[in-house]
This record gives sequence, structure tokens and C-alpha cells, in this order.
Amino acid sequence: MSAHKESHHPISRSPEDLMKRLLASLGPLALITQPFDKQAYEMGARHAGGVARAVVRPASAEEMSWTIKELLAARVHFVAQGAVTGLVSGATPTQDGSQWVLSTQRLRDVLEVDVINRSATVAAGFRLSDLNKAAAEHGLTFPIDLGSDPSIGGMVATNTGGARLLRYGGVRENLLDVQGVLATPEGTQVGGARGLWKNNTGLSWKQLLCGTFGAFGVVTRATVKLHPLQKQTATALLAVESSAMAMQLLCALEADLGEFVSAFEGISGAALDAVANHPGGSVLFPHTPRYAVLIEISSAIGLESGLNLESLLIHAMEKQLNNGLILDAIVGKPEQIWRIRHSLSEAVQGLGRMIAFDLAVKRSSFALFRDRCLEVVAKQVPSALVCDFGHLGDGGVHLNMVVPQDIEAARIDELRDEIYDLTVLEYDGSFSAEHGVGPYNLKWYQRYLDDATKDWAHLLHFHFDPNAKLGNIRLD
Ligand SMILES: Cc1cc2nc3c(=O)[nH]c(=O)nc-3n(C[C@H](O)[C@H](O)[C@H](O)COP(=O)(O)OP(=O)(O)OC[C@H]3O[C@@H](n4cnc5c(N)ncnc54)[C@H](O)[C@@H]3O)c2cc1C
Repeated sequence: MSAHKESHHPISRSPEDLMKRLLASLGPLALITQPFDKQAYEMGARHAGGVARAVVRPASAEEMSWTIKELLAARVHFVAQGAVTGLVSGATPTQDGSQWVLSTQRLRDVLEVDVINRSATVAAGFRLSDLNKAAAEHGLTFPIDLGSDPSIGGMVATNTGGARLLRYGGVRENLLDVQGVLATPEGTQVGGARGLWKNNTGLSWKQLLCGTFGAFGVVTRATVKLHPLQKQTATALLAVESSAMAMQLLCALEADLGEFVSAFEGISGAALDAVANHPGGSVLFPHTPRYAVLIEISSAIGLESGLNLESLLIHAMEKQLNNGLILDAIVGKPEQIWRIRHSLSEAVQGLGRMIAFDLAVKRSSFALFRDRCLEVVAKQVPSALVCDFGHLGDGGVHLNMVVPQDIEAARIDELRDEIYDLTVLEYDGSFSAEHGVGPYNLKWYQRYLDDATKDWAHLLHFHFDPNAKLGNIRLD
């Protein structure tokens, strides 16, 4: 593949000129240059961030388009940033202080719910919670559920999954339309907010801008499908003997409860203990099980119809208690159970030095795969405490573990290599199931993707960003 060459710019401005122009056109709220004020835009959610030359925050799609033109005219390198909850360092600048942060924090110029179309058009800077608050007023919801509160633009860019992907899919499956701004031709606005449920008339910007972590352009607006708000849910935490039993249980419960199943999350005993010992943590089982699953069933049909999900769930669980697939069950404490699930990541991190993996394999391979991972960890780092959990219903696992502080970096590198080789080469799985690609895991993108895919990604990246000014990775 050819190396990047700086393409011709019609105008070229100095950084000082750029600052003056941004300030004059966008106003003082749009520009952050002081070290203390920049800090919030420099730190990643999990990995160390960097240093921003400055932060610019346009407040509309038009301002975004104009700003990108200005940044490119000044030959400035910039990184699109939403709520900075991403876990692969994709939204933070590098350490050398040369990159700008292009934040969507103030890009909140539209949030419109179309009740009859069952959709919402929402600017990139709104948070998932903002969208759901507006949708709930109409008895609707955007059903992506996770332990953070990301921006809509960041969700499109990373194709967020979450705990209810099993039932609803991720962002991509719920995206009707997207608007974005490209780096070439500088500041071009593309896509739309037509909200069509179907449209097969050729190239679709949503396919290019969703799940490609901002490599091809900046998302300014999305039109998403909404779903009827659930009128009843029933949730249980179930103790099981092993992850193999958990997968059998998943199939048995899906056979009995069908489309009502909206989440099926796996939690190891060690991860449950981590939450129990975390400030404000809960203990629900008298003895920590080896493995547990959270099941949620839900429906937009209310109790008045005669449908009673709690009775259905209890009936299905009793059957599996008798079959020996369930050892113990906690039912009827949905808030407490979901709080445990959503605090797992933080609780494990609180135990010490955490090494995390975001993996996925086929559901049918999951149990064997998990056992093999545990063997690899026991061999490479016998003192590691594996506190894995994940979206079992879709084959996802966050193989997070706590290792001694003083363990040599080389040992951790070997562990990572072996786990990723096992996942991708032996189990045909994913080394980044839902967190996308950023500086943190670019090395494995380069190692595991096939040459044809990498070459085409590189060509597209070069085409859309010929001067390599957008984002903090290059798809080479
Ligand atoms: C506790 C916790 C739990 C999580 N659980 C899950 C989970 O269950 N499932 C899951 O999928 N993720 C999960 N995540 C990861 C994270 O929340 C998602 O990746 C999220 O969607 C990122 O959105 P953001 O607004 O924070 O984006 P950022 O972190 O700001 O950015 C992420 C990437 O998107 C790019 N980007 C941001 N905004 C735009 C834009 N407008 N246009 C173009 N590119 C843009 C950035 O450059 C970067 O590459 C979790 C994170 C945390 C901290």
C-alpha cells in the first residue's frame, strides 16, 4: 500500500490564526485551551490518555462542518470525542500534545421523537440517557443497555452492543439513517435524517460510519428506531455449576420463554465476590456459586392483559431446578440484580491491577473456550484472579482479571498473545467484540485481520482522510 502524501490545501493557516477564527465564529464556549480545563478531555475511561493541543466544541452540524474545514486548512490533527467512555483509547489525543480534540459535547441541536414512525433523530452530543428520557415520554425506548452513558455519536462510531443485544441487536441493527461530516472534500456533509425503515438505493452512509470508530468521518446526527417501552419485566439471578451448564440453561429457557428473553448475562463467582466487597456492593446468595447468570424477560404487554412474566419465569425456572441445571435462584429484586451487573467492571478494577479482554466466540463454543482461557491464565500467571463476566446470550465475555502489581510486562504480553491467538486462530472469535479498534488494540487488528480486508480498509481510510488528520490510528 502506498504511503500517505500531503494533498494540496487551497489555504493554509497558522495555529494562532486558527484559534482566533474559531473563537470569533463559534464563541468562547467552543474553545478550551487552558491546561486545567482540558484535563477532562484528555483522560480515557480505562487507559491513560494524552495531552490535547486544544479542545474545540462545535454546537451544530453546520458548525462541525465549518470547524473541520478550518482544522484541515490549518493542517491540524484532530480526534473526534463523545463521552469518552470508550475502552480502547480511541477518543483521546496522543502524549505529544500535537492533536486537537473535536468534542461533540455541545452538539445538541436536535432531539426529536417521531411517534408514528417510532424513531428519534438525535444530535451526536446527546447521551443515551437523554434519548431514553425523551423517548419514555412517548412510551418508547432505545433499547441499548450498558454500564456507561455514552454519546449518540460515540455509540454509532463504536456500534455499541450491551446487555440486550440478544433481543434487539446493537446500534447498527437499530440505525435508520446517519449524518456525518467528511475530511475530504473538507467539511462535506453527507447522509441524512430521513428515517426510512427501508431504502435500498445504493451506497448507505450508515454502513460506512457505524462501527468504524470515526476513521471515515465525524457523525453529527443519527435517526434510530425506537421500541415500545417494556410494561413488565421479570429478572432473576441463577446459580449454576459451570458455564457449560449456563449455555444448556440458555437454550432450555429460550425454548420455554422464546422472544421474551431480553438479557442473559454470565458472571463468574470471583466477579460476584468483587462486587460484594465493593463499596455499596450486594451479596445475594448465601454462598458464592462457581458461576451465575442474570436472566431478564420483558414485554411491552402489561399485566392487565393476563400475561404475567414473573409467573412464567418462575415456572420455567422450577422446571430447570428439577432438571438440575439451576442450583439456586434469586427472583424479584431487579434493581439490586442489575446494579450488581452494572458495577462488575468497576468492582473488578477496584481489586488492583486489572488486565481486560473483550472477546466473543460462537455461543456453541463458549463453554469450552472459557475453560481453555482459564487454563492459559493458570499456566501464564498462576497468581491471577480471573473475574470474568459477559453477554453470554451473544457469546461475549469480558475476561477481566486481577494480577500482582509487580508482574513483568513481558509476562502480560505473552498472556495477551496467547489468549488472543486462542480466541481468533483456534476459535475463530473476535479480539474486540464490542469496543471497536483504537490505539490500545491496533496491534491485534494488524495481526489478525486478513490482508484483503486490511488493504481495502486502508484504501478507504486513505481516500476519506488523505492527509491522515482524523483520529488517532491509521488502518494500515
Ligand atoms: C462501565 C462501562 C461499561 C461498558 N459496557 C459496554 C457494553 O456493554 N457494550 C459496549 O458496546 N460498550 C461498552 N462500553 C464501552 C463504551 O461505553 C462504548 O464504546 C461507547 O459507545 C462509546 O461512546 P462514547 O460517546 O463514550 O465515545 P468515545 O469514548 O468518546 O469515543 C469512542 C470512539 O468513537 C469515536 N467517536 C466518538 N464520537 C464520534 C463522532 N461523533 N463521530 C465519529 N467518531 C466518534 C472516537 O474517536 C473513538 O474512536 C462500556 C464502557 C464502560 C466505561
